[in-house]
Amino acid sequence: MKDVCIVGGGVSGLSASIYTARAGLNTLVVDGGESILARNASLENYPGFPDGVDARRFVQLVREQARNAGATFELGRVTAVEAVDETDLEAGFVLETEGGDPIEARRVIAASWSDSEYLVPLDVGRIQRGSKHFVDVDEAGRTAVDGVYAAGRVANEPHQAIVAAGHGAKVALAAIHDADVNFYHDWVVPEGYFTGRGREVPPGCEEIDDDERRRRDERARERLLEALSEPLDERPTMHPSVDLD
Ligand SMILES: Cc1cc2nc3c(=O)[nH]c(=O)nc-3n(C[C@H](O)[C@H](O)[C@H](O)COP(=O)(O)OP(=O)(O)OC[C@H]3O[C@@H](n4cnc5c(N)ncnc54)[C@H](O)[C@@H]3O)c2cc1C
Repeated sequence: MKDVCIVGGGVSGLSASIYTARAGLNTLVVDGGESILARNASLENYPGFPDGVDARRFVQLVREQARNAGATFELGRVTAVEAVDETDLEAGFVLETEGGDPIEARRVIAASWSDSEYLVPLDVGRIQRGSKHFVDVDEAGRTAVDGVYAAGRVANEPHQAIVAAGHGAKVALAAIHDADVNFYHDWVVPEGYFTGRGREVPPGCEEIDDDERRRRDERARERLLEALSEPLDERPTMHPSVDLD
């Protein structure tokens, strides 16, 4: 049984997975297609990229970051989620996928813009607006069903990548809290930041010395230089109703 199954490997789901995996939760991301961000032509309002970034490249890099953090991935569309035992939600959930084996997880984060049909069996509470359904969540991303959360656009967050990423992280922190993981903040700090004041390094934090800081910086720069050295040979996905002929 996975600690967390995240439905949707787009911006919010990948962001959530980085946090849950780094907190030590066994995290599986199930993705049934591509992020809606693949339709973008140039991502220019995501902080950290002064002249923008290719949106597909951005998603690839976030996916790589999630994998590096320890998240695992499965391709497939989730079709239904049910409680293992309706009288005891602590027993977790079973996720049915199109053509794949059922997946069991203690917690489920729905990050699957624009599909939430698979949550209907759980009665989490959905809000219909036009043809779209949003999942009703509290301020931390929890639904009415303990152990089930929603993140990003499907949780009715504004339709912007940075908001989806931030919300994914925030919802992951709620799931980490509910899982009773010993956790303070996910921070990497210089050696002595806590211990130099006679404090233990809090759970979730890491102190690194200057050699290690330089090693990590070098690795990060090399990877980014390599990743950005060539343009991506992929075009934006067009809206399905645009006639390209
Ligand atoms: C044309 C266009 C241009 C945009 N440009 C910008 C921009 O310039 N700047 C900006 O900030 N934002 C932009 N956005 C918005 C941004 O893409 C979204 O707000 C953001 O991607 C939402 O993140 P999300 O994780 O909620 O959804 P997504 O990133 O779409 O991720 C959802 C994932 O869930 C998967 N999924 C869905 N249903 C299932 C299921 N049943 N089982 C398994 N997986 C499932 C999907 O395949 C997808 O990978 C743009 C959007 C569009 C459409």
